[in-house]
Amino acid sequence: METLKRNCICCGADSGQIIPLGKYSVAGVGEIDAKLKICDACGCLMQDPVPAPEAMAKYYKVLSNYTNASRDGLPDPNTLKANRRQLALIDDLPKLGRAYEIGCATGHMLSELKKLGWNVNGCDPSPSAAKVAKDLWDIQIQTGQFEEMSLAPGGVDLVLMMHVLEHVHNPVDFLGKAASLLAENGSLLIEVPCLIRPDKWGNGYFTFEHINIFSENALLSCLSRAGFQALAIKIDAESEPYPVITALARKTGANKPFLVRPDDPEAVAAMVKAYLKTDASEWMRIDNLLANELLGVDEVILWGGGVHTSQLFSHTAAIHAVDIKYVIDSDPQKHGLKIEGVEIRGIDFVSLVNDIVPIIISSKAYEEEIYLYLRKELQLKTKIVRLYN
Ligand SMILES: [Zn+2]
Repeated sequence: METLKRNCICCGADSGQIIPLGKYSVAGVGEIDAKLKICDACGCLMQDPVPAPEAMAKYYKVLSNYTNASRDGLPDPNTLKANRRQLALIDDLPKLGRAYEIGCATGHMLSELKKLGWNVNGCDPSPSAAKVAKDLWDIQIQTGQFEEMSLAPGGVDLVLMMHVLEHVHNPVDFLGKAASLLAENGSLLIEVPCLIRPDKWGNGYFTFEHINIFSENALLSCLSRAGFQALAIKIDAESEPYPVITALARKTGANKPFLVRPDDPEAVAAMVKAYLKTDASEWMRIDNLLANELLGVDEVILWGGGVHTSQLFSHTAAIHAVDIKYVIDSDPQKHGLKIEGVEIRGIDFVSLVNDIVPIIISSKAYEEEIYLYLRKELQLKTKIVRLYN
């Protein structure tokens, strides 16, 4: 797979300490040899190299996880809670106007703003997310990457960017394009995962999708370089599934080429290394649990064709000791693709009832939801292996 090397996303320096994360294979993307880099100059943490923009664009187009079939596209409880937290920050905005959300997924946040009286629009790479937004909230969103959208400059009063900036190759350029959309003194509401409290990160925190990991300083620096001034910053360390930082910023039009404050590269490295130690022992626990649960088992079905499954293949030995009959995923866009050579299929009730083999749920965030679906809705009697509960 084609990869891209990056200079520091915050300060532009090209040297940094490399911490390898290991190789794994992602459905629709290929094998990734993931590495973290900590900038020597400003302590910013990012992945480097990263999959080339074309590979990422293709991935987000066909492999979004935002249209969970068992919820009919409705947001999960964590998203509902997050949307309330995010909206609280714009309570004091002077007037209702035109809002545009970049990466709006199935449009729940936009539907909340619409209820408040905002005129809403947005974009998302996934065509199936756009369909859900239309069906559920009657919101017509644009399909595609924000970078390729042609939008009238200055036509928007509020830009929303929730959990987007950690995915983009050049955050300052991306924020700059968002700024150009905004009217003079327009506002940006942004949220990203926050580089604090590694004890709250959970296993598999460094997925290939999150190529930038922002500290408060790093986010403020990128905002300032792109012509924004932060008006309010909120860090929520208790947020699920990991701590986040939410900021309301105002477009100033003055791009400042300096860092707000650098982070100490050694402190960041120590934080990452301590986390990776915990992460390794958590995967060891899962490996042991699997080895026990799969004693005497020849064949299993894996539920979940996402990054968690890639990590499971990469971090456990027990999963390689059994035959994986197939992988099930509710997202039709993944069907027919392969992960570690195993085919991804849709939910087929008849085969599930007839294939009397154990099912391993390979998802942390949705484990309970999937478990209840299998036991209560499908009434499956077969053995179901949960890795976290
Ligand atoms: Zn830097």
